[in-house]
Amino acid sequence: MVLGGGYSGLIAANRIARRLNGADIMLVNERPRFVERVRLHQVAAGQRLPEHLLADRVRPGVGLTIGRVTAFDADRREVRVGDTVLGYDTLVYALGSGAVVPESAAGAVTVAGAESAEEARKRIADLAAENGMLAVVGGGLTGIEAAAELAESHPGLRLRMLTAGEPGDFLSARGKAHVRRVFDRLGIEVLTDAEVEEVREDAVVLRDRRAVGAGLTVWSTGFGVPALAARSGLAVDAHGRIRVDPTLRSLSHPDVYAVGDSAAAARSNGRELRMACATGIPAAYCAADAIAARLTGGEARPLRFRYVNQCVSLGRRDGLIQYVDADDNPHRTILAGRIAARYKEAIVRGALFVTVRSGPYSFTRRRPVLG
Ligand SMILES: Cc1cc2nc3c(=O)[nH]c(=O)nc-3n(C[C@H](O)[C@H](O)[C@H](O)COP(=O)(O)OP(=O)(O)OC[C@H]3O[C@@H](n4cnc5c(N)ncnc54)[C@H](O)[C@@H]3O)c2cc1C
Repeated sequence: MVLGGGYSGLIAANRIARRLNGADIMLVNERPRFVERVRLHQVAAGQRLPEHLLADRVRPGVGLTIGRVTAFDADRREVRVGDTVLGYDTLVYALGSGAVVPESAAGAVTVAGAESAEEARKRIADLAAENGMLAVVGGGLTGIEAAAELAESHPGLRLRMLTAGEPGDFLSARGKAHVRRVFDRLGIEVLTDAEVEEVREDAVVLRDRRAVGAGLTVWSTGFGVPALAARSGLAVDAHGRIRVDPTLRSLSHPDVYAVGDSAAAARSNGRELRMACATGIPAAYCAADAIAARLTGGEARPLRFRYVNQCVSLGRRDGLIQYVDADDNPHRTILAGRIAARYKEAIVRGALFVTVRSGPYSFTRRRPVLG
């Protein structure tokens, strides 16, 4: 059973089907369509994207259960979907993540999930129609992509970003400078060292109690995982992510694997992987291969993975590729502008493509890493 039909869950289900002919595989997802989550800022900006039905994206041998998982008991091997309780022999947990919005910011919208991005789309279009001021809170990758996309798609919208550090703290100096150039071109005002404490109807309030005008706020300060795993009896980390070994197998329950944003996975040197498709996809390959190997008496191999770059869209016509070392630390080298936008688009299309065709490639080490 695979919980979650996002990037990593869908890849895991299809790859297991490919590896284990005749296996009984069930993919559980809350809605019948696959959501290209990395494009949700485009949805919020009002762009119409093609729909992808999960039924068209699963391999023969993968059954679909459409419904929301409301409870999961790892000791009893039971998953509750609506009124139905389902059992499993082996489970892949891939329920992803969502926005973390504090109570004091409840009036804000987010681009982290399909429904919230759709709500954001409507409210931002209304605000743009009256030349209103939109605040984007958070200068991480999602906040940067959202701000640029919204400014480009709605030239009438006034937009300001508020961020605790500066936009793209994780980027090299050249990367940050490119983001600033694009923001200037798009007319995005940036307020740095601005810690937002409260979102009101017409303003955001900073820690020093200064109010900054905003008719609507996009909250984008990071992702958190559903509490389901922490309540299931599985060993989780302080953020509720499932603790796994190098083959993505739960440390507490050997019949459970976790991939994607819900897994606390690490590189072989112990460095934790960030929540991203860039990590969820190789992890899904690795977990599927480990499951297939163990069920057929083979040897499960640990994840072999290194970071190469961070790809940031800055609207449809600009982008930034920040090259990084194996542990995700930025190099001086960047690729910027239209060519970077094309590169990023190719990566996004590639991520969609591999959900269906995972190919022969494997993200595992030949020899297990001990310790
Ligand atoms: C706007 C935006 C831009 C991004 N850009 C990038 C990028 O450029 N590069 C990058 O690497 N990453 C990017 N990310 C992050 C990336 O989207 C996630 O890391 C990735 O989607 C995680 O994959 P996943 O399979 O773990 O989870 P998801 O893709 O979130 O899939 C989880 C699935 O589980 C389903 N689900 C959740 N709860 C339940 C439940 N209780 N019952 C049933 N089904 C459930 C969901 O509906 C979903 O289908 C971006 C994210 C956002 C929001």
